[in-house]
Amino acid sequence: ATASEAATSTNRPAPNRMTATDVKVNVSIPEAAERAAATGADGVGLLRMEHMVLSTGETPAHYVDQHGEDAFVNTLSDAIRSVADEFYPRPVRVRTLDAPSDEFRQLQGGEDEPAEHNPMLGYRGIRRSLDDTDAFDLQLRALAQLYGMGYDNLELMFPLVADAEDVLAAKAAMERAGIDPDKRPWGVMIETPASALSAAPICETDPDFVSFGTNDLTQYTLAVDRNNEAVAGRYDELHPTVLGLMTDTIETCREYDVATSICGQAASKPAMIRELVEAGISSISVNVDAVHDAQREAKRVEQRLILDSVRE
Ligand code: PEP
Ligand code: MG
Repeated sequence: ATASEAATSTNRPAPNRMTATDVKVNVSIPEAAERAAATGADGVGLLRMEHMVLSTGETPAHYVDQHGEDAFVNTLSDAIRSVADEFYPRPVRVRTLDAPSDEFRQLQGGEDEPAEHNPMLGYRGIRRSLDDTDAFDLQLRALAQLYGMGYDNLELMFPLVADAEDVLAAKAAMERAGIDPDKRPWGVMIETPASALSAAPICETDPDFVSFGTNDLTQYTLAVDRNNEAVAGRYDELHPTVLGLMTDTIETCREYDVATSICGQAASKPAMIRELVEAGISSISVNVDAVHDAQREAKRVEQRLILDSVRE
């Protein structure tokens, strides 16, 4: 299909904007896209590639070995396209693979995966992608293929970056795949303290957006394993230090005109919405069940901010 075919065959009207802050939806499983689109969300703030790969039952390397590179690219692009269709022309932000090695170890080919003591601090996200460039380049090829078909509502997001060097390397991979970073929207997740503390150099790499991954930002900032019951009471996304990293990052991004968003679970908490809308975040992305409440809360905060400014 050409760009215009994609636009006419799948064009659905964008929902009425309810809030100045975009309220988007997270999609983990492509099959959930229809229901997510029906909420009237302003787009997909996080489409995870994990499920598309894990649901094949094979590691990327095993899959490519058995079925070939083109089949791997097509599996990804079919899954992404089904979501892009549901939302067109609303934006869909696709995140490159971020599964930890312990999840890959359960799949066919898993015996070739590293055995790590602490997979959450290990071989995942952009660090794996920049090392295992074969699998990374195929993920980007899937995106390039869809851009070629006219899906100009797709955006690209890189997980778990630590610094500007990671971001520059990811940009170079985009170029390698034939995706022009100056022409296609792309950005990175801010989910390591290092990345939040290097917001300015990261903005210098010229991303269109950053997105807070509070699930990880909280566990790494407070050194509290997000999956460990024994310390669950200490897991607090609204901890002043976690919030401070985010509000400082928003301030820096505003100086550079880089859009900011949040796609961690905490995005649906009213207190988080209040803090971040007040700080000037551009969008929040929540689970499908939380879209309407998040829209209401964002609107309430926005109206109060307007009233406060009139009264001043
Ligand atoms: C996050 O860390 O907040 C996030 C959205 O990514 P994931 O939960 O997939 O690590
Ligand atoms: Mg994360």
